Order: sequence, then structure tokens, then C-alpha cells
Amino acid sequence: MRHLLCLVLLVQALLALPVTAQDCVNPNVQPPTAAWPQNAIVWVYAGNVPASLHNSIRTVLNTWNGSAGHPGNDSGVYFEFTTNTTTMDYSGGSVVNGGAYIIQLKYQVPPTGAVFGGTVGQSYEGSRVNALIWINPGITENTAFRHTLSHEIGHTFGLDECYSCTGAWQSVMVGGNPAGGMNDPYYGATEPTSCDLETIKNNKGYTYPSCDSYYYLQCKESGAGNLWDFTRCLCVNMRDPGNAPVTGTRNCWTNTYETQRRVGVCTYYLRIIDTYCGGVGFNHVEYVEDLICEEIG
Ligand SMILES: [Zn+2]
Repeated sequence: MRHLLCLVLLVQALLALPVTAQDCVNPNVQPPTAAWPQNAIVWVYAGNVPASLHNSIRTVLNTWNGSAGHPGNDSGVYFEFTTNTTTMDYSGGSVVNGGAYIIQLKYQVPPTGAVFGGTVGQSYEGSRVNALIWINPGITENTAFRHTLSHEIGHTFGLDECYSCTGAWQSVMVGGNPAGGMNDPYYGATEPTSCDLETIKNNKGYTYPSCDSYYYLQCKESGAGNLWDFTRCLCVNMRDPGNAPVTGTRNCWTNTYETQRRVGVCTYYLRIIDTYCGGVGFNHVEYVEDLICEEIG
């Protein structure tokens, strides 16, 4: 009986797998400059969206975070949720007050003419540094909201619409269907398909982070404020950047610590200030606070 059950499960698995793989369709792409850089840590400011939708935002972000490794899109891009707002906005056809590695969510009709949602943003040195995402406030049903938010997040990874798709299950980049109204929970995808993830990876050229996943998971579980920086494979303690922005930027923070280093017969007592921006760029400054050398002879 047990063997028969195994056989039945095996047959089901063999039947199910190819269908899933063939069912999705690759979406179109934007230039790779429209996608986040490898391993960016992106803060998502949700303060403009009603609290009743915050859990849906968290769900969407968790889904994309869960797809950032391997197998997945290999980006290492990690989203952090905050109920804060920023001053990043859109004026005269341009993003104003754009910060580093942030998404500002706005619960407004997109001024760009899009119906369900829209995404704009800025690029710097070949990659996206921020995004302003509008979600039409007519979308109040949570599943429908997740369809649109997940689609807009797809744009921030350099995906365009899926022009070859014939069904909403084929790609998260299938747009909403206006005929079904704003709140149709049955038309759309709440998470990226394997085709979406492959297209993201190939378009941007993401490579699998080489960090040890054990330490990554340990860092994630070690409490609020700790974030894993894939770039340097380090667990960093991060204060809310909304509370501690480094001059002129957001999502940058500093980590100060004392250390000592022995060089020859001397011990240098150092104060180190590391600056991180979105886990990508960073600055490292060492101040010599004291120097004690041994006499020889
Ligand atoms: Zn779109």
C-alpha cells in the first residue's frame, strides 16, 4: 500500500512539474539600469498606505525577499518595511527628493496615466537607486492590492509588461484587467513566476551571493535592527534610517566601534566609522586615538 502511494505521488509529481514549468511566459524587459544593484537593502516606506493594507505589503515584500536567493532571481536584494514616510515625490515629470535605496509607496491615482499602479524612479551608476510606486486607492481588496504591488515591485527589478502573455497566471507582469474592476482577486499573480525570476536574473546579470546561508539566517533571526549585508557577508545593526539619515541621503547609516591593531612594536587604538548605504556602497574611516609602542633593547 505504501509503495502504491509512493507511485501515485511520483506520477502526480511527474505530471505536475512540466505543466508548471511550461505554463509561465517570460515578460518583456527594461534596460538593466532600471533594476536594483546586486544585494541592495531597500527600505519600503508605507506610511501613505492605510494600515489595513500593511500586512499585504509585508506579504509581498516577504515573497520577493524569499525569491532573492538561489533558486530565485539571485539578486540578494532585500526589502525592509517601515510605516514611516519620506519626502520623495514626483513633480513636473521628475522624481524629487529621491533617496538611496528606498521605495516610497503612495496610495494615489498614478499621475502617469496608468490605471492600477505606476512606478517611476532614478538610476545611478548603472542601477536603480529608488522607486516611487503609486497604487490606485480604488484598490481596497487585499489580494487585488497584492497583485498590483507585486507587479510594481517587478518593474523595480527591470521587468516590463508581459506582452506575450495570454493569462494572468503566466507572469506577475500581466497588467490588471480594467473590465474586472479594481478589486478582482482572481485576475493577477501575487508573486513572481519562475519565468519572471529567470528573466530578472538574466537581464541584470545577478549572481548567487556567496555568503554562508547559515550566518544569514542566524542574523535574520537575531532580532530587530539586524540586517544581513550580502555584499560583505556581514550582520550589521541598522537603525531606522528615517531617524538617523546621513547628511543628504537616506538609507545610509553609520556603525562606530573601537578596536586596536598591532603593527610591529606599536599598538594603535582606533576608532572606526563605517558608513553603509543600502548595504551597497560604504565608507571606512579610521581615527588613531592612541598609540603605544614598546621600547626594544
Ligand atoms: Zn506595469
